[in-house]
Amino acid sequence: MTTLFYPAWESLEIRDLPVPGISEGGVLLKVAACGICGSELETYRNRSNRRTPPLVMGHEFCGTVVNPGTSPLHFKEGQQVVSYALVICGLCRPCRRGDTHLCTKREVFGMHRPGAFAEYVSVPASSLIPWPEGVPAQAACLAEPLANGVHIADRLQPHKPRTVVILGAGPIGLMCQQAVQVMLGVRTIISDTVPGRLETAKKLGAFAVAKAGTSELDAQVAEVSEGEGVDAVIDAVGSETTKQLALKLVRPGGAVVWIGLHENTISFDSYAVTLSEKTVYGSYAATLGELAYAVKLMSEGKVDAESWVQTFPLERGVEAFHRMLNAQGNDIKGVLLP
Ligand SMILES: [Zn+2]
Ligand SMILES: [Zn+2]
Repeated sequence: MTTLFYPAWESLEIRDLPVPGISEGGVLLKVAACGICGSELETYRNRSNRRTPPLVMGHEFCGTVVNPGTSPLHFKEGQQVVSYALVICGLCRPCRRGDTHLCTKREVFGMHRPGAFAEYVSVPASSLIPWPEGVPAQAACLAEPLANGVHIADRLQPHKPRTVVILGAGPIGLMCQQAVQVMLGVRTIISDTVPGRLETAKKLGAFAVAKAGTSELDAQVAEVSEGEGVDAVIDAVGSETTKQLALKLVRPGGAVVWIGLHENTISFDSYAVTLSEKTVYGSYAATLGELAYAVKLMSEGKVDAESWVQTFPLERGVEAFHRMLNAQGNDIKGVLLP
């Protein structure tokens, strides 16, 4: 089968590999579409040991069951499914509590096991949910990044926010924007350095957009909040600057979500968290239930996961990956179609 293979640091190639077998409880999928995730670009760029080659990456995917195996979950041959990015044990304490994203044995496709930049992928049936008719493949595969936004909206819900600032209008930022708009009914203010991404955020319903690195964002936050700060800030970049900025822009008693992974060790004003009772959430992945909810939002047409996404045939995967790595203008999200 054709794959986009990551044989060594800073190298990618189209390689023919054997079709994977399936293990106990496993299902073989013919991949219909697989998104290229920002975390994959980031780990490739930084030679991160979170994804060590040789490897087939790809964890945002949907496909058709070609071999249902012997799983008691009864997926049928020909059935269309969306996959969870994780493989979970289902037995540990977090799994039994419903915190499947925190499974102590969690594995990520394209990190701990072969991913879906390939014609076929082997998936435990327990990681699959139905892919409803009417949602195109290039959108259905993005239920996974949308689920990250659903997860964050679930986290912010008890804070009853009215205005949410999102730092970074990349794929995760735009998915978070749409999730909080539709689930929490909030106004969003989106900041990014790239004008094309801000245009997209506007089209997706942002109340306001701001060019990052200018005084625009501070001014907008001051205006909507009478100088107090906004109810919640989502940092979808994750640099030291944006993590600090998130804490600065949120009002006393408000909530900050750190989902971006750009920089690890940072310094920040911890007294500002303590004295003004700000809540900081770390957010990684989503539960299986949130993935199903993301698919539902898509099938109801409440989220646009298409107009700002570019598709490429898998054979052009090297070009697509490099294009997203050096994103220009309207290059926001690439999806590979095997
Ligand atoms: Zn991802
Ligand atoms: Zn578990």
